[in-house]
Amino acid sequence: MATLRFSSKALTTFNLEMQRFPNLEVGGVLLGYIIDEDTIFIKTASEGGPKAIHEEFYFQADPNYIDMIIDMEYANSEGKVVYLGEWHTHPQIHPEPSPKDLLSLTEIAESAKLFSILFIIGAVDYQAKKFIDQSIAILKYNDEKTFYTLEIELD
Ligand SMILES: [Zn+2]
Repeated sequence: MATLRFSSKALTTFNLEMQRFPNLEVGGVLLGYIIDEDTIFIKTASEGGPKAIHEEFYFQADPNYIDMIIDMEYANSEGKVVYLGEWHTHPQIHPEPSPKDLLSLTEIAESAKLFSILFIIGAVDYQAKKFIDQSIAILKYNDEKTFYTLEIELD
């Protein structure tokens, strides 16, 4: 699997969350499905939720809100749309995962069926048209040590 494709709805959520919390980290979960062996589709990117923690260099989603979104998307799609990973912003132009990000990706991948994804957006000077330029998608399989970088595309 080499490409991560985002719906325009997911893109809108990224933009709105960044506008809502300027200069603070925002994030949430990624929900979607595997299209084929080369493409993973992100249908929905969630907000952080009402009790999310937004700081300049830290973000933590509201776990109850996240659980509710995951259950809702799963039920509404009859099990097609599932949790695939997490997203958050960094106060960088070209974001790089922190050691803590990679550790947390390793942990979520361990409890995943197959893999988990971490998607990071650089919020400094961000514009929607720079989306692909200013973001990074990392995939980790639950049974491998390697981190893979995914191509990013828009639906
Ligand atoms: Zn991070």
